[in-house]
Amino acid sequence: MATITILGCAYSIPDAAHEPTHFAVQAEHSGILVDCGTNPTVRLAQAGISYDCITDMILTHFHPDHISGAPLMLLNMWLLGRKHPLRIHAPAHCLQRFSQLMEAYDWHHWPGLFSVELHHIPLRENAVVLANSDFTISASPGEHMVPVVGLRITDESCRRVLAYSSDTAPCDSISRLAAGADVLLHEATGASIGHSSAGQAGQLAARAQVGKLYLIHYDLHRAKESNLLSEARSQFEGRVELARDLMTIDM
Ligand SMILES: [Zn+2]
Repeated sequence: MATITILGCAYSIPDAAHEPTHFAVQAEHSGILVDCGTNPTVRLAQAGISYDCITDMILTHFHPDHISGAPLMLLNMWLLGRKHPLRIHAPAHCLQRFSQLMEAYDWHHWPGLFSVELHHIPLRENAVVLANSDFTISASPGEHMVPVVGLRITDESCRRVLAYSSDTAPCDSISRLAAGADVLLHEATGASIGHSSAGQAGQLAARAQVGKLYLIHYDLHRAKESNLLSEARSQFEGRVELARDLMTIDM
């Protein structure tokens, strides 16, 4: 069964103990890194995940707290001697800007850089991101300041499902994406443009009839943890927990 490792649970402003939101999902043949916080090489090492296990990186949208570690990750993988290809999946808006960012770093002149394949995720509901013997991953658009996708990750060994909202205001497409998921990781930045509160995450979890809700991408500085949990629990009867850096979750 796949293992989910939370590498960061913070919203846009990290602190010494919390990285911006990103996580890894690992199975026998694949390692999926979803978004890429500011310090991915150190976080993966702390989690005991070899950088070489990462076969695919999915960038949900082009905001610094979700992608700023990706250039460093590529540089570090190259310097550490990675040879096998890496696939990067993202919506066109993000993929194009990420390419431009890497051009600014002259990545085509890094001698012997492993092959990096860029895969575009269409901005439509249930777009297939990848399908292999470990996972089927699909994406649907959320509502944010820039184009963004949420993800539905099915573990093919047991058909259990993880859904991830990424950054989004409450919306029907993410509710449909999460329908019946065993685990939903939902952002809880607070009710504001392009974001959701813990209560709204709870409402969506109830509507989508998920098994368990983990709140992620929450404000470490202003929000009280107990308030986040009680807000979500007032809307959703299932289990609710806060995602935390370096915690693992079974599918
Ligand atoms: Zn964002």
